[in-house]
Amino acid sequence: MHIAEIRERLRTAGAAPIHEQYLLREWSQGETFPSRRKPEEFLPRALRTILPQLKADLAALVALRSVHPSQDGSERLLLGLRDGQTIESVLLPREGLCVSTQVGCAVGCVFCMTGRSGLIRQIGSAEIVAQVVLGRQRRPVRRVVFMGMGEPAHNLDAVLEAIDLLGTGGAIGHKNLVFSTVGDLRVFERLPKSTVKPALALSLHTTDAALREQLLPRAPRITPENLVAMGDDYARRTGYPIQYQWTLLEGINDGPAELDGIVRLLKGRYAVLNLIPFNAIDELPFRRPTWERAREMARELHRRGVLTKLRQSAGQDVEGGCGQLRARSANRVAG
Ligand code: SF4
Repeated sequence: MHIAEIRERLRTAGAAPIHEQYLLREWSQGETFPSRRKPEEFLPRALRTILPQLKADLAALVALRSVHPSQDGSERLLLGLRDGQTIESVLLPREGLCVSTQVGCAVGCVFCMTGRSGLIRQIGSAEIVAQVVLGRQRRPVRRVVFMGMGEPAHNLDAVLEAIDLLGTGGAIGHKNLVFSTVGDLRVFERLPKSTVKPALALSLHTTDAALREQLLPRAPRITPENLVAMGDDYARRTGYPIQYQWTLLEGINDGPAELDGIVRLLKGRYAVLNLIPFNAIDELPFRRPTWERAREMARELHRRGVLTKLRQSAGQDVEGGCGQLRARSANRVAG
């Protein structure tokens, strides 16, 4: 379901723009729907009669299948959609939530379990917001990152519709909405024109164009240099730094040549580099560098003028890489 369909149902039942705004705000903020005032006080009768069914339909968009708390304070949630598909959301420390935008993903990054399944289906904009509503039933959420399963650029209309609602009625600051992409020209065309301009996270992973093609086989053929140039342009327009994502794979992108490449590309940019040591799993042939090596890289980059943060993939101890819980649950069903 998309947010546009909810709006249509409300309008057909006689909702004026103010009613529509109120009801969508209540829902997206995770309030009991509608909560603050009794609907009889101000909603037209025809609209009141459709609310119980609408409320039930929205509540059924995503269902909590299982919760996997981690020592780092995050909670990985396995969620069921109405057609039986499963997705993952992660409640992050410091009031963050990572949401999924697709079931599966067509980009096929070689270090990602979600990429192995290919694209199964798109997630509707209402299903994206429903992940936030469900997260808010467990904890406050003031930051939403679109970094779960899927490539948000491949479901762009739905993701932008969700961002618009979260940023206007959903009480999330615009720079606390983080759109993550491997780099897609449509993102650089559409985001600057949006009313709600999210912050941008770009998956860099390497400064070597040939290696990037191997690691992200179906990502658009944008060189690391061009990706950074487009990121820079967006940072200037919005005033938010770009977050560059770098999954650290031992022996692949953790060597001195990459460090030189990162300094060449990012020194002096309005940007943060997030180094995220790979979360090793049996199914994938990659290894995680030692924490000491990762720390050494972060220190050297800092020293050479690149703002760098060393991050754990949230929920490390609970199959923390994107798509792993879903894969496990699918295997359990299959087995
Ligand atoms: Fe898709 Fe992201 Fe996984 Fe790459 S890392 S395959 S873009 S979900």
